[in-house]
Amino acid sequence: MTDKTWGKIRDELRKTIGKNNYVTWIEPLEYSGLKDGVAHFDVPTQFIGDWVSRNFTDQILQLMRASGEPVQRIAFDVKKPKGRTSAPTGSSKEAPDCEKRRRIGEPSGIGGSLAELPRAPLDPRFTFESFVVGKPNELAFAAAKRVAKGGPVNFNPLFLYGGVGLGKTHLMLAIAHELQLRRPELAVVYISAEQFMYRFIQALRDQKAMDFKKLFRSIDVLMVDDVQFISGKNSTQEEFFHTFNALVDQNKQIIISADRAPGEIKNLEERIKSRLQCGLVVDLHPTDFELRLGILQQKLARQRAEYGDIAIADGVLEFLAHRISANVRVLEGALTRLFAFASLVGREITLEMAQECLSDILRASDRKISIEEIQRKVAEHYNIRLSDMIGPRRMRTIARPRQMAMYLAKQLTSRSLPEIGRRFGGRDHTTVMHGVRRIEDLMATDSQIADDVELLRRSLEG
Ligand code: ADP
Ligand code: MG
Repeated sequence: MTDKTWGKIRDELRKTIGKNNYVTWIEPLEYSGLKDGVAHFDVPTQFIGDWVSRNFTDQILQLMRASGEPVQRIAFDVKKPKGRTSAPTGSSKEAPDCEKRRRIGEPSGIGGSLAELPRAPLDPRFTFESFVVGKPNELAFAAAKRVAKGGPVNFNPLFLYGGVGLGKTHLMLAIAHELQLRRPELAVVYISAEQFMYRFIQALRDQKAMDFKKLFRSIDVLMVDDVQFISGKNSTQEEFFHTFNALVDQNKQIIISADRAPGEIKNLEERIKSRLQCGLVVDLHPTDFELRLGILQQKLARQRAEYGDIAIADGVLEFLAHRISANVRVLEGALTRLFAFASLVGREITLEMAQECLSDILRASDRKISIEEIQRKVAEHYNIRLSDMIGPRRMRTIARPRQMAMYLAKQLTSRSLPEIGRRFGGRDHTTVMHGVRRIEDLMATDSQIADDVELLRRSLEG
């Protein structure tokens, strides 16, 4: 393969695997020749070789074959780069180098001083004040507040975990924010586990591992976000473990987040799991309706500050809080989009507008509650048989719960009326519509029905 061919393949890879991956993994490779169907590449470290081999072999092989190279497999030979003047594309090394630095937010390569570590950003959006507290997150909030006080280190690490978009990063940045206001002399570092790994690998590549160690061991408060990222990445885990221990030994505070409990992170060394567990482990539970509504009300104020006082019809926030339940980020995004749209067309935000403007989000966040679940819950609640939901019986003690289930199916899923009808024993969509209306009317006049709706809705939304 000529250098030119390899250059083309690299360009192709850059497009498919993204700039960051490209700079970190592909750029360090130096093609050294094809022998007996094996394409050889020099790599600066074993780690990079392993990584590329595990993650990018198929793509590289495919591209080489597409260029007519008789290649069967790829081999990586660890060689310290020798001056690297033979960049196959002949491109200057300047550009990628500064790109690397920008990517990890670093002014001038890893040296020995703290100035070069990413100080936690003071982002006014992510503070304790802007964090809405409810049952599902009150423990995590209290723990974060406590750590932010910065007194003696009581629990180390603080381990926050929970699903995507439940506020882990927000809480960590709030801690950083508060600490930096209260104790500006402390070196507070917030870094994602992914960045930690990139920096570590880069340090290895540049033969600055010692500097890396020194740097990370001079921190006062270390926050590592999304630590599940290092699962299966053994040398990064190793380095993380040592950094962690060194800081704990010096009684420095560590705050970690992950998308699951320490014990449930796969491919994480046992000794790391157990160290992570020995501080305080708190989880952020999935949001409930009240919390979501609270968050929306708070964001509403902020949106109004930005877009002006756009009117919003009654029930729209409640609708959003009911229907978008998995991820606060998505909830926020929905509100932002509504405001942007409303200010563009100069209209009030109505329920219809929300339904139309957010149909993709609504559809995507709908997977949670199924019609079967609704039927089961409602049957249980009214103490009737599940089979009566879809059966023909018409007496009120059965018809009313059936209407309730239809109403909830309409409210809590994105199924159309005909679809709902089908799931209720093949009933017509007009029957469903009638049922939904009936419940709506009753809710206004019969507080028992209104209570039932609320109770069932809550229990379905978990
Ligand atoms: P995670 O890191 O858990 O995936 P984030 O902290 O990035 O989630 O939160 C996603 C978005 O939702 C952020 O914009 C954050 O400010 C917001 N958010 C999450 N929980 C709350 C809350 N309780 N109050 C206010 N905003 C929240
Ligand atoms: Mg996060």
